[in-house]
Amino acid sequence: MRILLHIIIFVILTIITQIGGILYLVSILLINRNAKKRRIKRIGIFVGLYLISTFLIVPNVAPIFGREKIKETQFLKAHSIFYKLANRNYVRPELNKTLTQVATEFENQNSGIKMVYLDANFPFIDKFPLLPHLSHNDGKKIDVSLIYKTPNGQLTNKKPSISGYGVYENPKPNEYDQSEVCKKSGHWQYDFPKYLTLGTINKDIDFSESGTRNLANLILKQNSIGKMFIEPHLKTRLNLTNEKVRFHGCQAVRHDDHIHFQLK
Ligand SMILES: [Zn+2]
Repeated sequence: MRILLHIIIFVILTIITQIGGILYLVSILLINRNAKKRRIKRIGIFVGLYLISTFLIVPNVAPIFGREKIKETQFLKAHSIFYKLANRNYVRPELNKTLTQVATEFENQNSGIKMVYLDANFPFIDKFPLLPHLSHNDGKKIDVSLIYKTPNGQLTNKKPSISGYGVYENPKPNEYDQSEVCKKSGHWQYDFPKYLTLGTINKDIDFSESGTRNLANLILKQNSIGKMFIEPHLKTRLNLTNEKVRFHGCQAVRHDDHIHFQLK
């Protein structure tokens, strides 16, 4: 029973953070099973090991395996500390450069407005997926938030979802509804991220067409970028004509809560 619990914790930590499962095993092995206050000591060791690894060791080791921690600037930020705490902020050096470039250009054109990233990739091992995204497994992929505006029409850095995912900019009645088409064809998971918001905030803000179009076009303009995924009705609404904009397929999930893009 106890072993089963350890296995479950190992799997969950590995899925969420990649390195957490192994560090959990190390902390179990380091504290003798007969030690007094075993549980509290193991948790203490695990938290210490995890924080040191995440913030000091992994950022220095990952480049040996071809990935870097995303270099944040004043205008390129994670949506929340979770993405950094869980090691979900690693990319290939070329993507790192592109992100800095796009965020800088975007801010030049929209003073004070940041590019906010969500899930990127884990630091190690090609083909190790960063769930729930199957394709974020090679350092080439990243998701960024859409751009929003306040009731008086100013662009804002606020976002509507606590997690960063799951608050959709739904199709208008006259727009093509890809989600409906996918769900009718049996792809029940297509709008599953609606359960992953962790709550909604900033209810007064609205989707900004001009801000999001501006950001998307700056991304598409980069030579290093090969593909972008955004929901078909937004592609049409934002008039994104670049051939790099593709449909991700019904086996994926909706892309009207974020933009996905990737290196060639
Ligand atoms: Zn993605």
